Amino acid sequence: MEIKKKDIRALSKEQLRDFFVNEGDKAFRGNQVYEWLWSKGAHDFEDMTNISKETRQKLQDHFVINHIKVDQMQKSADGTIKNAVRLHDGLIVESVLIPAKNRTTACVSSQVGCSLDCRFCATARLKRMRNLNPDEIYDQVVAIDKESRLYHDRPLSNIVFMGMGEPLMNYNNVLKAIDKITAPDGLAMSPKRIVVSTSGVPKMIKKMADDEVKFKLAVSLHSAIDEIRTSIMPFNATFPLKDLREALEYWYAKTKNRITYEYVVWDGINDTKKDVEALIQFCKFAPSKVNLIEYNPIDDGEFQQANSKAIDMYVKMLEAENITVTVRRSRGKDIDAACGQLANKT
Ligand code: SAH
Repeated sequence: MEIKKKDIRALSKEQLRDFFVNEGDKAFRGNQVYEWLWSKGAHDFEDMTNISKETRQKLQDHFVINHIKVDQMQKSADGTIKNAVRLHDGLIVESVLIPAKNRTTACVSSQVGCSLDCRFCATARLKRMRNLNPDEIYDQVVAIDKESRLYHDRPLSNIVFMGMGEPLMNYNNVLKAIDKITAPDGLAMSPKRIVVSTSGVPKMIKKMADDEVKFKLAVSLHSAIDEIRTSIMPFNATFPLKDLREALEYWYAKTKNRITYEYVVWDGINDTKKDVEALIQFCKFAPSKVNLIEYNPIDDGEFQQANSKAIDMYVKMLEAENITVTVRRSRGKDIDAACGQLANKT
């Protein structure tokens, strides 16, 4: 009978060392294999050339290496690249490489589909199928780093968890992936160049603060008025703004880290003076930055980007309160790679 083999990358370095000791080998062998798996990105035990044939066979008998495969790569006219990533069980997620003048950013997924129900987001129309494992998140970053070197002649510099899924609903795995991404024996990237974006799960924001994480936090706010936010992000009824605000105050008190708010201004939804005033009241308690992001239509025209007059009003009023504000243009729209457009169309 075939026994189900374990994914070797679910093991920590210590567990891998223990495995070899239990097999009568040296703990050091564990380090070697660990390096093959994480730093050298081996997809096959046969690639591990400094490991004996017998040992490779032993590994083969006990474990599998579940690695992702970039199934399809689409390139945008603006240099953005979207990867359709096939997981070991056949499910697909998407991740995006976004080149800019002085940086290359990877936008990675944390779940297959999403359990939240933001009405303006294409991913929300997919059912949440499962959480991604730490290695599946890590592999997306490795794949984009390779593409960045190949097509843009430089390594990846930044990571945003703004692909498919709600990272704080897969917190443990996201944290493990970031640990590996920032570890010296992983990719050795600075946590300051990593942004975790959340729709706002208060309990988990507090947990992040308690864990003293070093990466940055972005909150997809879109409205600071409960009634409006609930109408476009229905889970706001469960996690109302009062709780979100309280969690963010806790986060700021503990980390002293500036908070970024992602915000789309829509015609007839959140484009009045009252909306801006509520936003100011909401975020004034700590140093904040508001990213006004362009709306990427996902279909029926129910949501329309507000006109430039409304955007200008936001910018003026926020700046008058010393709140940093940027107006961000979308990238990769022609290949459905922009915010909110990831939906496994192909
Ligand atoms: N679940 C996380 C991360 C994924 S969404 C979160 O909500 O933050 C990444 C960003 O894209 C969020 O700020 C989200 O609100 C925004 N977004 C979703 N759909 C969009 C669309 N159609 N146009 C522009 N931004 C969108």
